[in-house]
Amino acid sequence: MQPYEKLLLENKAWAADKVKGDPEYFKRLSLLQTPDFLWIGCSDSRVPANEITGTQPGEIFVHRNVANMVVNTDVNLLSVLDYAVNHLQVKHVIVCGHYGCGGVKAAMTNTDFKALLNMWLRNIKDVYRLHRAELDSITDENIRIDRLTELNVKEQVFNLAKTSIIQRAWKNERRPDLHGWVYGLKDGIINPVFEMNAGTHIDAIYEYDDI
Ligand SMILES: [Zn+2]
Repeated sequence: MQPYEKLLLENKAWAADKVKGDPEYFKRLSLLQTPDFLWIGCSDSRVPANEITGTQPGEIFVHRNVANMVVNTDVNLLSVLDYAVNHLQVKHVIVCGHYGCGGVKAAMTNTDFKALLNMWLRNIKDVYRLHRAELDSITDENIRIDRLTELNVKEQVFNLAKTSIIQRAWKNERRPDLHGWVYGLKDGIINPVFEMNAGTHIDAIYEYDDI
């Protein structure tokens, strides 16, 4: 059997098991999704949103990319955000990074990863530069990586708040609240590092007045 064929077999077993416990499970889910949460996480295979939060299909709308970035020219991320905020009307947006993130580690090196990855990791290098004084004062490399991971999550929450999508929803509906979390690969525990409630003011240069 090919490795991918095992996935299809496991899928059949999973679907049968779900229906056994709840015959209407798929019928109900197929009609509607009303998630309260948008999850912006890392693509890392060890950080599955539903599994680590004990949630079921239908509960979290998910977007994942390398190092859980919110890049203001990323049409993919912005489309997901627009849909989640304006159509699904989520109440919370969670940016969840994780300690030991390969993307964060790579951004801290001077290695040339070639054009595309360099372009993506540049966004994390910018976060490093913003917090250089604090980060350079940390002598232990692993602690420095962990701290950049936390600061990166915080900056991505700020990046969400800079979008007109979030600012319009804040003004009209006082939602969603924004959360910055970091998941621990070593213990499975999520560390909430930053929160921004709906309506919070950010640096004035980013606030739209005609929204
Ligand atoms: Zn990662």
